Amino acid sequence: MQCVLYILSCRVEAEGTININKINMEYFGIVADEILGIFVPILVYWVYYGMYLLLDLKIGENYRLHTKRDEMEKNTVDKATVIKGVNRKGSDDVDGDDNNNERSMVMTIIILGWQWGIAMLVVDTWQYLMHRYMHQNKYLYKYIHSQHHRLVVPYAFGALYNHPLEGLLVDTMSEALSFFVSVVLIFFSFATIKAIDDHCGLCLPWNPFHIIFKNNTLYHDVHHQLYGNNFNFSQPFLVMWDKLFGTYLPPTTPHCVPSN
Ligand SMILES: [Zn+2]
Ligand SMILES: [Zn+2]
Repeated sequence: MQCVLYILSCRVEAEGTININKINMEYFGIVADEILGIFVPILVYWVYYGMYLLLDLKIGENYRLHTKRDEMEKNTVDKATVIKGVNRKGSDDVDGDDNNNERSMVMTIIILGWQWGIAMLVVDTWQYLMHRYMHQNKYLYKYIHSQHHRLVVPYAFGALYNHPLEGLLVDTMSEALSFFVSVVLIFFSFATIKAIDDHCGLCLPWNPFHIIFKNNTLYHDVHHQLYGNNFNFSQPFLVMWDKLFGTYLPPTTPHCVPSN
């Protein structure tokens, strides 16, 4: 528990200014730090996908956005290829530093909340701009981003199925930018979970992401359809850039389709 609190704690300089870029990792050391950085995002990805796999098996028939037949017929890539494509995605290093001064938990939570909001804004802004440009630039779309759109009927573990260069330019770069303002490890894990959720293909009525975010499974599903290919570039949290730049297309799926 103490280790967890140290991960969450922010460094406070002796003169009283708060250095929000650093994470105290003194309980882990460099080796543990690298192991965490490599394995936590991968673990989060597959554990969260596992939850959706179980949900799909148990209650998927009532909540699927597309039929299983559509998944088989419309997707232009098989699942084995998607798994291979996802597993090559790397993870992020986390910097460590000493921390001799600790703030109260209240102060820590306030700082974390602020960092969280700014990190979401940074990730969303970068990903919107890059994502939209990859659609506008025919070369980038044809040779890079079209790989992700081979999934017309998205499923959870296809969330990070994309070209390695897209992974670098969109995902890794946005995470690197948010590194300067965020609580890195837990924020990245949260962003990973959100990306999986956006591709899960189920419209579960009690899904908290669907209540909190307008940018959710239904919203991103529109972008994967041929008619929505030039809309809903925003990801993974907000919809404001789509609304501001006229690329917002609200989901029209009135209810889930029955599986067959
Ligand atoms: Zn796209
Ligand atoms: Zn997608």
